[in-house]
Amino acid sequence: MHKKLVLLVLLACAIGIWLAAAWMDANSKAIVEVEVSKTEQDEWFVAYHFEEPVERVTFIRNPDTSRLQRWAPIEPNYYLAVDSETGNEYVARSDGQAFNSVAFQLDPTYVALRKDYAPFSTFSDGGTAWFTGRFKVCPQSCSSALAFSYNFTMQAPLSDYIRLPEQAVRGELNWQESASDGQVVYVGPQAADATAKNGFETIIDPILPASLKQRLRQDVPPLTAYFNQRMPHLTERPMLLASFSPTTDGRFGYQGGVIGNQMLLHWYGHSMAERVTAPYFVEDTLWFVAHEFAHLYQAGQFSNEQAWIHEGAAEFMALSYLRTIRTNGVYLNHRLQGAKQKCATSEDTFEVHYACGLLWAADIDQQIKLQYPHGLFFLWYMYVQELAEDPYADTYQLYFKLLAQLTDEAFAEQLRTRVELRYQQLPAVTGIAP
Ligand SMILES: [Zn+2]
Repeated sequence: MHKKLVLLVLLACAIGIWLAAAWMDANSKAIVEVEVSKTEQDEWFVAYHFEEPVERVTFIRNPDTSRLQRWAPIEPNYYLAVDSETGNEYVARSDGQAFNSVAFQLDPTYVALRKDYAPFSTFSDGGTAWFTGRFKVCPQSCSSALAFSYNFTMQAPLSDYIRLPEQAVRGELNWQESASDGQVVYVGPQAADATAKNGFETIIDPILPASLKQRLRQDVPPLTAYFNQRMPHLTERPMLLASFSPTTDGRFGYQGGVIGNQMLLHWYGHSMAERVTAPYFVEDTLWFVAHEFAHLYQAGQFSNEQAWIHEGAAEFMALSYLRTIRTNGVYLNHRLQGAKQKCATSEDTFEVHYACGLLWAADIDQQIKLQYPHGLFFLWYMYVQELAEDPYADTYQLYFKLLAQLTDEAFAEQLRTRVELRYQQLPAVTGIAP
């Protein structure tokens, strides 16, 4: 009898603890509903719904303040503004009242954001790719202890496919995301290709010149083979999105990015035909694609504070690949000289990440190659594997720890000092960048 009582008490305790844990779990998470929709007339809207009333919602990613121009509240008593202390964009009501939902009409055109992925990339066949991270908000404030979870819905006319990696539907697609980066959603006429070429799911703008499309198709297999020989293999089938948007103000260029297993290549300019004939267009394109390939194999190990680690490595990996396939030496020399000159004189943090990053990566490569033939790639192989096992490791410390293992303490220490000194030379950042 006595034993039974003890067991019952223990059981009651266990149930109590279980219930408390379940209650805490349910209450430490805030779910935000994000409904994005595209109409037959190609108008784009986003609507948010919150579980609890909020007086303010703050955006997680704030590369600039362009939402103020590009997002129009549907109801007049809501407004978008910039917090004077943090520089972050937020939404509130002019009467200060709390609200459970808010909606905006969006400008779905391409815009290059310097420190972030483009919110919308357009395709000439009417397709659009949009970045979910742009739409993530924190109810009330982002410094809250709550974990945020996003229930996304995309609605589009039935003539469109809504695509995410390994998913393609018409009408409506639902998915969930955490507060981390995000992914790119394609909405447009291109169906999923059942027989994916080269192991990639591809969404390629038909307006891209035939020569460029052919190059992309031709370069993907050797690039894949090159990286597979040197880096941990990709765990999921990647998706390649290549698009173009025309400009009327003389701006031209390209911008790429890798988000998870999605690779984005976007060209913009007056016309693509004009771009293709520019000197070194083929070499520039190859470098650009190889750089993004490197990011794909870097498996999302990007640190914002130490961007030279992944950007410099991607630049060097692109250079190594182009050397392997015997790209025009004059071009490669020109790129290296450009990096040397920028690294010596630039006062721009981003330029230093790329230019000095490339030179530091080249030095690391040379030093590791004294013992290991794959050089910098071997360091990255170990770095990616270690981070897969311990995602919360301090990336900077780990990078230098592995570097010291593959070279020696003195080299690692000397490089660390060189890097730190170079960043100290940059003008101090004051206030919010315009
Ligand atoms: Zn990059």
